[in-house]
Amino acid sequence: MRNNIFIVMGVSGSGKSTIGAKLAAALSLDFLDGDDFHPPENIAKMAAGIPLDDADRMGWLKKLNSKAIELKNTGAVFACSSLKESYRQMLCNDVNVNFVYLKGTYQEVFDRLSLRKDHFMPPALLKSQFDALEEPKNAITVSLLESPENIIIQIMQKINKKSFGLVGLGVMGKSLARNLARNNFSLSLYNRYVQGSEEKIAEKTIAEYPEFVNASGFEDLEAFVNDLETPRKIFLMIKAGKETDEFIDKIVPFMDKGDVLIDGGNSHFADTKRRIDYLQAKGIFFVGTGVSGGEKGALEGPSIMPSGPKEALDLVTPFLMKIAAKDKDHNPCCALIGPDGSGHFIKMVHNGVEYAEMQLLAEVYAYFRYVLKQNPEEISEVFHTWNQGKLKSYLLEITAKLLTKKEGDTYIIDQILDKAGNKGTGNWTTVTATEMGIPATMITAALFARYISTIKHNYLLELPSDSSEYKKLSISEIANAYEVARMVNHQQGFELIRTASETYNWELNLSEIARIWTNGCIIRSGLMEEISTIFEIKKDLFAAESFVDIIKSQKVDLKAFCMGSLSADLPIPTFTNALDFLNGIRNHTQTANIIQAQRDFFGAHTYQRRNDPSGKSYHTIWE
Ligand code: NDP
Repeated sequence: MRNNIFIVMGVSGSGKSTIGAKLAAALSLDFLDGDDFHPPENIAKMAAGIPLDDADRMGWLKKLNSKAIELKNTGAVFACSSLKESYRQMLCNDVNVNFVYLKGTYQEVFDRLSLRKDHFMPPALLKSQFDALEEPKNAITVSLLESPENIIIQIMQKINKKSFGLVGLGVMGKSLARNLARNNFSLSLYNRYVQGSEEKIAEKTIAEYPEFVNASGFEDLEAFVNDLETPRKIFLMIKAGKETDEFIDKIVPFMDKGDVLIDGGNSHFADTKRRIDYLQAKGIFFVGTGVSGGEKGALEGPSIMPSGPKEALDLVTPFLMKIAAKDKDHNPCCALIGPDGSGHFIKMVHNGVEYAEMQLLAEVYAYFRYVLKQNPEEISEVFHTWNQGKLKSYLLEITAKLLTKKEGDTYIIDQILDKAGNKGTGNWTTVTATEMGIPATMITAALFARYISTIKHNYLLELPSDSSEYKKLSISEIANAYEVARMVNHQQGFELIRTASETYNWELNLSEIARIWTNGCIIRSGLMEEISTIFEIKKDLFAAESFVDIIKSQKVDLKAFCMGSLSADLPIPTFTNALDFLNGIRNHTQTANIIQAQRDFFGAHTYQRRNDPSGKSYHTIWE
C-alpha cells in the first residue's frame, strides 16, 4: 500500500517534527508541520491554555486532508499528532497515507521533555494526550527512544518492506496475488522449491504478469518473511490438511510475536480452531478464511469469509476488503464472520449448498435431455432464459454456457465421463450436519450422487425399465419445481449455520453471510439476495411468507417433476429429498410414532404422549 504521503504521529514531545523533517529529507519530499494548519481560532485557544476539543480539530484535519490530496502525486511528509483513529480516518479521505508512529510510554516522553530546556509541558496536559491516544494498528511503529538517525534507518527499512505476503502460487494463490497487486499492495510472494519441478515459481510468476510492479519473489522462507513489514500479514493458499500444519511449523520460527498467518485454503473448521490456539501460545495470530469464486473470482473479486481473533482481523481486513467482490450496493463481499473457525465453517456449508445446487441442475438437465428429448443447445436456451429472471444464478449461467461447447460436431458434455470427483467439503458438511442433528438431506444426497457415479461402473446390472408414461411438464412447471427445491436446499444449509452459531456461541449474522454470498462466490444468485433481506428480520427462511407462499403454490410442480423423472427411471436424489423434506415436515401423516414404539419395544427407550404436553416419558410392556 506504499504511496508518497507520510504522516509522522505521536503525542506532543515525541519528536514528530524533527523526525518528519529528517524523513522528508531522506525521501526528497516536502515537509509540512501540522501545527501550521490550525485556523486562528484554534491558535487563540491554545495560546490561552484552553485544550482543543474534537469539534475544534475537525476543520484543522479537513485542511490537512485537503493538502494531502493536493500533494498525493508529488508526495509529502506531515507531522501531526493524529492521536485518535477517527482523526486518522479523516486524514485518509481520498488519499492513501502511511502513518509513522513514534511510540513511547508516558514516563519516557515525560523524561524526554524534562531534558529539553525549550519545551515545558504540564504533566496533566501530557497525561491528557495519553488518555486520548488510540494506538494505530497499521502504522510503521518506531520507538521514540532511538536516536533520530536510527529512527530514520528503521523507517526507511520498513518503507522498503512489503505490506503483504502470500504463500502458494497455484491456481488460487496466483490469482489472489494478482488481485492484491492490482489494488496497489506491495507483495512478497513465496512458492516452495522442489528440485526439477518447482523452481523459481514466485520469480517466474512476477515476470509473467505486468501488475507485479511492486513485488518480490522467494523460495527461501526466511528471506521471504524478512521482506515483510511488521506486524507481518502472510496469506497461505496451499493444500489444506497436514501440508498446512507442516508449513506452519516451517514458517513460524521466522515470524515475530504479533504477526498474522491467514489460511485461505479449504481447511476444516476444527483444524482452524486448533491452529488458532496452538499459535496463540507462541504469540502469533492465526486467521482462517473461506475464499470462494474459483480462479476467476480470486482474480476479479472473490467472496471472503475471515474468522479468528479480533485484533488479527483488524490487521488483515483492509487488504481482504479491498480485493473482495462488491455486492449490488458496492459493499465488499467480505465480512468478519466471528471467532474460531467460523469462517471455514460457513465456507464448508457454502460448498455443501454448492454440491446440491450443482446436482439440482444436473437433474433438471436429465429431465430435459431424457424425458423431453432436448439437445444440449436447446437446454442451454432454457437455462439462459431462466437466468434472465428470478432463477438467476452463477451456476445456472455457467451451465447454460458449458452445454453449448462443442469439439467438432460433438458436445463436450457428451464426451465427459459420467464420474464426479470431490475434494471433501461436501463430506465434511454431511458429517457435521449429522453430528449436529440437522437434516441437510439435499447436500447429503448430492454428495452420495457423486459417490454413486464413481461406483456405478462396477456394476453390470441390467435392471428392467418399464415404459410407464407420465404427464410431461411444461418449462414453467419445471422452473417452479427447481425454484422450490433450491429454497429447501438453502433453508437446510442456513439451518446448519444457525445451529453451529448457537452451539459454539459464534453469534453469526446470517443476513451478512448471505450478503457476502451475493457476489464473488459460486453460489451467488438472485435467491441469495432475497435471503439476505429475509434474515434481516427472520431467523428461519421457512418463517418468511415470501418463501412459504412460493412453496405452497409450487410444491405440486416439485411433486410432478419427481414423479415424471422417476417414471423415466432417472436418478433425482436432490429433488426427491427436497420433496421428502417438505412432506416430512408436514403434519398430516405420522411415522415417527412407529419408530418410538419400536424403540420402546426392543430397548425400553420410552416415548412421549400426544395427550401429555409436560413431555413426561412413558414405557409400555408391549408383550
Ligand atoms: P493448487 O493445487 O493449484 O495449488 C496448491 C498450492 O499449494 C501450490 O502452490 C503448491 O505448491 C502448494 N503446496 C502444496 N503442497 C505444499 C506443501 N507441502 N508445502 C508448501 N506448499 C505446498 O490448488 P488451489 O490453488 O486450487 O488451492 C489452494 C487452496 O485453496 C486449497 O486449500 C484449496 O482447497 C483452496 N481453495 C481452492 C479453490 C478453487 O476453486 N481451486 C477455491 C477456494 C479455496 P507447488 O506448486 O510447489 O506444488
